[in-house]
Amino acid sequence: MSNPCIFCRIINGEIPAKKLYEDDEVFAFWDLSPQAPKHFLVIPKKHLSGPGAVSVEDEAVIGKVVRIGAELAREHGVEQCRLVMNNGAEAGQTVFHLHLHVLGGRPMSWPPG
Ligand code: 5GP
Ligand code: ZN
Repeated sequence: MSNPCIFCRIINGEIPAKKLYEDDEVFAFWDLSPQAPKHFLVIPKKHLSGPGAVSVEDEAVIGKVVRIGAELAREHGVEQCRLVMNNGAEAGQTVFHLHLHVLGGRPMSWPPG
């Protein structure tokens, strides 16, 4: 049976995505439903269901996810951006493979909805 996780399937090339970056630990791609002029996702290749599933051994790769997110934003002309990780359905998480949203290219308001 194929992996039911949509982001694992994107990493494996089973579902097409517009890739921005890939190394042995991290994958980044444009969001299918952008909420800002620039909106992409950065994910660890290791399947973690969300921020609540991060253990001590994952700390380094999560730091890398943040660094890559900010670097890619800069490369795409976005110096100031919002980095978001939703943790759980009530917080707005719909895909249960940890992902960092990087949104930029427009003014942002606070608090989020
Ligand atoms: P969440 O709501 O879980 O924090 O964010 C999930 C994000 O994944 C959403 O912004 C949604 O648009 C994006 N997404 C869901 N399915 C796909 C897909 O198949 N391809 C891409 N590129 N993005 C997806
Ligand atoms: Zn996954």
